[in-house]
Amino acid sequence: MPYFWILISLISFKMDTKAILNTEPIAMKDYLMGRFEPSKHPDFVRIPDQYSEKKGAFLRKEVLEAFIRMYEAALKDNITLTIVSATRNFDYQKAIWERKWSELKYKDKLNKQATTDQTKALTILRYSAMPGASRHHWGTDIDLCNLNSAYFNTKKGKRIYEWLQRYAGQYGFCQTYTSKKNSDRTGYNQEKWHWSYQPTSRVFTAEAAILLQDTDFTGFSGCETAPELQIVKKYILGINKDCF
Ligand SMILES: [Zn+2]
Repeated sequence: MPYFWILISLISFKMDTKAILNTEPIAMKDYLMGRFEPSKHPDFVRIPDQYSEKKGAFLRKEVLEAFIRMYEAALKDNITLTIVSATRNFDYQKAIWERKWSELKYKDKLNKQATTDQTKALTILRYSAMPGASRHHWGTDIDLCNLNSAYFNTKKGKRIYEWLQRYAGQYGFCQTYTSKKNSDRTGYNQEKWHWSYQPTSRVFTAEAAILLQDTDFTGFSGCETAPELQIVKKYILGINKDCF
């Protein structure tokens, strides 16, 4: 779907449904960019330890409720949908980004390869978002079970993914980053672990399409590459069309 039509359909979706979520006490743009502390935001709740690998992780309340319904259903089929990562704010994402950025620099020194900031950013962007551009800021998106593609080729991983493909939609979840083969989807590589609670996240996607610009991404290494890499168009909006 061309970018223009994505934008038009998102704007009309927003106008049709008046789907405006109140993000107070945070302005929508700060919310979208993860410039807040989830533990202090009234819409967020702590994920009970039994569901999460990391203790003290947060999600939006309605997202956690939907997740628990899905978790219970999966458990009846002998599948445990452990949350590996949930809400990450700007500072958290910045720490991930900066760590990867400095590792790349180190590797390139060893390999004596000349690397531009753009190629470095593109390497990280295969799987990780720039700070301010991650759907994990929104409290609507979760990573399940394992962060490696290879895991989902194992017997156990395959069973989990097949279950999610078949049933996650019934609980409101969609796989955001589907395969790019035979698809015009841009952005991150396929992530079989990343699922989004679509009833809420589609509202934030629509808001992001309107409010965010590539020049908004500042305050971390390599941020000046955001406009040339078209972060909003190719990454934030580079999602499975079922998630819009
Ligand atoms: Zn993720």
